[in-house]
Amino acid sequence: MAGITSGFVGAVGNTPLIRLNALSEQTGCEILGKAEFMNPGGSVKDRAALGILLEAEEQGLLQPGGTVVEGTAGNTGIGLTHLCNARGYKALIVIPDTQSAEKIGLLRSLGAEVRTVPAVPYRDPNNYVRLSGRIAAETPGAVWANQFDNLANRRAHFNSTGPEIWQQTDGAVDAWVAATGTGGTYAGVALYLKQQNPAVRCVLADPHGSALHSWASRGELVSEGSSITEGIGNSRVTANLEGAPIDDAVRIDDQTALETIYQLLWQEGLFMGGSVGINVAAAVATARRLGPGHTIVTVLCDSGDRYRSRLYEAAWLAGKGLHQPLRPSLEVG
Ligand code: PMP
Repeated sequence: MAGITSGFVGAVGNTPLIRLNALSEQTGCEILGKAEFMNPGGSVKDRAALGILLEAEEQGLLQPGGTVVEGTAGNTGIGLTHLCNARGYKALIVIPDTQSAEKIGLLRSLGAEVRTVPAVPYRDPNNYVRLSGRIAAETPGAVWANQFDNLANRRAHFNSTGPEIWQQTDGAVDAWVAATGTGGTYAGVALYLKQQNPAVRCVLADPHGSALHSWASRGELVSEGSSITEGIGNSRVTANLEGAPIDDAVRIDDQTALETIYQLLWQEGLFMGGSVGINVAAAVATARRLGPGHTIVTVLCDSGDRYRSRLYEAAWLAGKGLHQPLRPSLEVG
């Protein structure tokens, strides 16, 4: 039967590319969002988790009953835990305690062994990523997914997300815009699109508190401020980001990201997470830089469900010095 996919794995990818109508009309560009929140584990990270797991299996690193260990802001751990359930492995997830209760609770519901740890910088040996590597090394039968520096991550996007975007736009894409956490999504798609057409403009979006905007624009890793967004920004250039084409970099503040996700909710009916606000606001900034008539693709990484108690709660936002956007009244008639 032609319409059937096989299990969780078969349902990863082939997501819609959604035209963001109001923003497209406002800018005169086609602003398109790759609907990665529609993956079966609910985020863009299902693709990386699947690519990493399949390569580990091919290399004979995982035996039935083995353990997959990962340090994650949540979404990679969620994707990996679904896949571990589907393929007969255990998942051990290390996550900073600053991440949303929704993601941490979901990981537990899915059956992962979850270790929450204080958020400390990468240079500290107890950083969640470094700790996950040590736990993997000390656990018999375990593999470390190592999403930041394992190139299986960006290969998954080079082989699936990039080709899907190229086909869905009939090759008529002018710019690719995305924030990076590991860099897998940004780099995998950028490398693929540039291979098809070197004129595609690749734009790195970055939240405050990340060092990648200064690195991309001046070659120095300097971070200033902070962000309420989760899963994006970095203090270092990961192996997955290394060597990726970057034509431009855009920094977006939290209030702008917030206004953007509320606009997506009210104008498009899309309930999105914070990194989507950074991505879509950066896509709009790119549209303004390029002028009307261009096609700009970005990523809708995950859903607002994962951040309801934060991004969609006025009191939480006020505690961060941010204003919950006010809904304009609907025109009647
Ligand atoms: N948005 C969200 C919500 C994420 O969890 C992540 C992954 N950390 C990203 C964006 C960035 O994806 P990548 O790791 O491929 O750079």
